Amino acid sequence: MTAPRKPATILASAGVAADPGRRAIVPPVQVSDTFEWADPDTKPDYDYSRTVNPNRDLLAAALAELEDAAGGAVTNSGQSAALLATLLLPAGALVVAPHDCYGGTYRLLQGLADQGKLRAVFVDQRDDAAFAAALAEQPALVWLETPSNPLLRLVDIAQRAAVAKAAGALVLADNTLPTPLRQQPLALGCDLVLHSTTKALNGHADLFGGALLAADPALVEQLHWWANAAGLNGSATDASQILRGLRTLPLRVDRQEATAQQLASWLAAQPGVREVHYPGLDSHPDKALADRQQAGPGFMIAFRVTGDSAAFLKGLDLITLASSLGGFATLICAPATMTHRGMPPEAQAEAGIHPDLLRLSVGLEEADDLIADLARGFEAAASA
Ligand SMILES: *Cc1c(COP(=O)(O)O)cnc(C)c1O
Repeated sequence: MTAPRKPATILASAGVAADPGRRAIVPPVQVSDTFEWADPDTKPDYDYSRTVNPNRDLLAAALAELEDAAGGAVTNSGQSAALLATLLLPAGALVVAPHDCYGGTYRLLQGLADQGKLRAVFVDQRDDAAFAAALAEQPALVWLETPSNPLLRLVDIAQRAAVAKAAGALVLADNTLPTPLRQQPLALGCDLVLHSTTKALNGHADLFGGALLAADPALVEQLHWWANAAGLNGSATDASQILRGLRTLPLRVDRQEATAQQLASWLAAQPGVREVHYPGLDSHPDKALADRQQAGPGFMIAFRVTGDSAAFLKGLDLITLASSLGGFATLICAPATMTHRGMPPEAQAEAGIHPDLLRLSVGLEEADDLIADLARGFEAAASA
């Protein structure tokens, strides 16, 4: 047994000189939709790019090694990876998801439930009694998302996965926010790990992509079967670009996280701040779990301002008001009207997504410049 390779090594060597043609250092982009057969009875390894493509395979192999998965499907968005997960389930199956999950996850599961294709319940998964009650309904799939988006609440993956599996459910973790560098859901007992590669994994905010990886080779087979059947796989060009972005993921996450820690501490000391949610702060209710479960608190911060939050946002100059996260540029959003608008107001209130809650995705700018910009926002909010 050789020791597992470290992420930076996996990503610096993925696909290097692996091109069987000319041993190119950078894997060539194989955009061809189809490939020649030697004869009609001998199916080549690569035949039709919806089914299988060399660039997608290289990306899937790198992601699988990062997550210690047996393999998985590289899809054309995070949402198509989520849809792929639901295709594994029989009609009418019950899915238990967090009440404060990603807005798109809520929209998809609720939409499928409204059509009777499956049943969905959204529970506060930190609540032992609520989680046990949901498991008593015999879900086919338990969907975890920790830290949650936007409020960065944590659940104990090892504990939740163990009881969910004992109840007969498949367990999936959306690992988009922490990235494989900060959290390893399969090692903690999950069956499936989902990524929106649109976010930190690509990191350059210029494409959409997703992945659904599994620990069990039989499940990997099913993922490939359904991704091909439903046409959910991503393009060769996008797979190549995502692998390019991934090569610097360890550097970017270290830097973004260090800056986020600085910003969160600064925010917590501002009189214009009502509350800060960041797993790297001692004030975070799940700090001990974060220290145990995650290799770092990450680059996302949520906070509420005491003054006029619209004026605060208008006062910003460097930080841009936009959805999405994990990219090189620092973005801020108001989840209630932006990322989570697919969630009805009652569900938002229950999840704690207040109209004045702001979510910050910290990028690669200098921390001092970001702090100066936030200070401009507080000045604007105070004089509104
Ligand atoms: C963005 C996101 C998704 C959806 O991914 P897309 O690539 O936008 O389809 C799913 N989960 C989380 C946590 C996300 O942030």
